[in-house]
Amino acid sequence: MVHSVNSLLQPGIPRELNLTRTQRRQVRQRTLRRLLANPRDLLRFYGTTLLPPLMFLAIIGLVVAFGIEWGWMLDPANPRTGLLVALLSGGKFAALPILLVSAFIAHRRYYRPHVYAALRDMNFEVCTSCGYLLRGLDAQTTKCPECGAGQQSPG
Ligand SMILES: [Zn+2]
Repeated sequence: MVHSVNSLLQPGIPRELNLTRTQRRQVRQRTLRRLLANPRDLLRFYGTTLLPPLMFLAIIGLVVAFGIEWGWMLDPANPRTGLLVALLSGGKFAALPILLVSAFIAHRRYYRPHVYAALRDMNFEVCTSCGYLLRGLDAQTTKCPECGAGQQSPG
């Protein structure tokens, strides 16, 4: 239970590592430091998280704006107030699941690799692309058995 809560709060750290609270904090700090040292990844992380829901809201805003300007949305003879309300309130709620999905993708692509690299900095042998625990593999193994990514020598 504690573990599933932890992996929700700090996804990306392989559960099998059984990190202590302090180690988790270290991983978080190292990951943050790595991200700050890689502004491009930081930008991509926020861009991937925020752009899709913002673009979605912008499109709804444009539809409403042009609908009013071109007169078909608030035409006194045939006002489409139902559609207007649906666009404004529905759009707001639909942006939330979009944000969740984009945040998930951004986290996977641009945050997790730094978590794995931070773990490797702390001498935990995990795969840099999927986080699979490489402990106990023989030295000849050059590919991750989980995802097949080529591995750099540890350290
Ligand atoms: Zn892997």
